[in-house]
Amino acid sequence: MKIIKKLAVAALCISAFQASANNCELTIESNDMMQFSAKSLSVPEKCEEVKLTLVHTGKLPATVMGHNWVLTEKRNVKAVASDGMRAGVKNSYVKPDDARVFAYTPVIGGGESTSITFSTKGMSKNKDYNFFCSFPGHFAIMKGTFKIV
Ligand code: ZN
Repeated sequence: MKIIKKLAVAALCISAFQASANNCELTIESNDMMQFSAKSLSVPEKCEEVKLTLVHTGKLPATVMGHNWVLTEKRNVKAVASDGMRAGVKNSYVKPDDARVFAYTPVIGGGESTSITFSTKGMSKNKDYNFFCSFPGHFAIMKGTFKIV
């Protein structure tokens, strides 16, 4: 019994190590210039879950220069952004229960940060994904590619 327990613990340690070694954790910054710090992000196919941290390095409040991070298929960006705008700030500018959205963070302002963990279930390395900020007027500039590799 003791040996089995030890093996299980060893297996857990190995998988935890692999998760961090495989870059299943991403950090992206945003600023008062309406920019993300990366134009593209990717995670290995092995990542069943991805932890995403969004940092706002600016000083402006969320009401003026709010940013979030929304993940969807590239072809859905415009529609998700305009539905998000209608959904308003109370919904973080994302339509509630929007099936086109794989993940999104709350809207944050300068000096704040937020982290989410999301499943990559239903995503594929053969599809084109985009991340973007759905704060009104931002998605045209604050946008990048997201790939499963
Ligand atoms: Zn923004």
